[in-house]
Amino acid sequence: MTTPFHDRDTGQRLLARIGEKLHALGATERAPIRLMEVCGGHTHAIFRHGLAGVMPPGMEFLHGPGCPVCVLPMGRIDDCVAIAEDPRVILATFGDAMRVPGSRKSLLQAKADGADIRMVYSPLDALTLARRNPDREVVFFGLGFETTMPSTALTVLRAEREGIANFSLFCNHITITPTIKAVLDSPGMAVDGFIGPGHVSMVIGLRPYRFIAERYDRPLVVAGFEPLDVLQSVWMLLDQIGRGVALIENQYGRIVPEDGNPQAQAAIAEVFETRAFFEWRGLGSIDESGVAIRDRYARFDAERRFAVRSPTVADPDGCRCGDVLKGGIKPWQCGLFGGACTPETPVGALMVSSEGACAAHHQYGGLR
Ligand code: SF4
Repeated sequence: MTTPFHDRDTGQRLLARIGEKLHALGATERAPIRLMEVCGGHTHAIFRHGLAGVMPPGMEFLHGPGCPVCVLPMGRIDDCVAIAEDPRVILATFGDAMRVPGSRKSLLQAKADGADIRMVYSPLDALTLARRNPDREVVFFGLGFETTMPSTALTVLRAEREGIANFSLFCNHITITPTIKAVLDSPGMAVDGFIGPGHVSMVIGLRPYRFIAERYDRPLVVAGFEPLDVLQSVWMLLDQIGRGVALIENQYGRIVPEDGNPQAQAAIAEVFETRAFFEWRGLGSIDESGVAIRDRYARFDAERRFAVRSPTVADPDGCRCGDVLKGGIKPWQCGLFGGACTPETPVGALMVSSEGACAAHHQYGGLR
């Protein structure tokens, strides 16, 4: 579809201006400016529209940990499979999570083995399942960054209001800023700036990113998902780098308010509290990077209703998802890419979701 955000001439002009900036910065193919996107939607857009391929020399995209399905550790998938295998349970989940490999099996394999797993489009669908199946325990597999947290929180509040006793949430929601901090703190970090997540920022606004500029001296530009959005954000980041400043800017002002969405923030704060730490696939444990259900809503917490152990499980041999997520290697530099690991037979989680860097590169970038 052609929209004003796909206009070829405007794109060419932006690319020329990006090239001028890179030239002025002295960036080269061997010493590029490295910009990391931390949203799976941007990863998908960059590959889908071939933006990496049309960039002038001296600019490199790094694909950070922005796909919530991709960063779920195997132990949490194992827990989810164990809950689903309880004969009392109907497990409700988004389709993306079905094929993420666990150490024993994925949810799709568990379903094939007889577990009652239903795909839903929203947490409210899971609540409907609970109303229709009062003799069963309906567990919603909640995951995602702050983008999806409000709808999960509102569903828990609705379950409470309606007194629905057979609904609970297996909470795997995660937060974006501790994740960016983990990238910034990782040894050998070589990120010059961040393309900030558009959808998460609709909820949290711009303020939570300030530490990136103030403490780490790196710019971040919240960006939209159309090709010209991404190109303009790249130009804005290069402009900041050229001026020697680090600011938090908003390219996606048509959607993202500076202060985010106060009602959504209030729903999140009412239902969830920060976990001391949360395990990420490939990145290890990150402090305060996940949320859990507050005590006052404990009866809706699947972790307290079922035996959830969340064991730490090592990634499969040869899997380099963690290195890809930290920007250390490109997807095709993993020895399993396109061979043992494909979208049909994913070994690592980055090959499962269309927002995963490996899956996106496999679909649009081809083999290298
Ligand atoms: Fe992980 Fe597969 Fe990508 Fe390797 S190719 S990093 S195993 S998803």
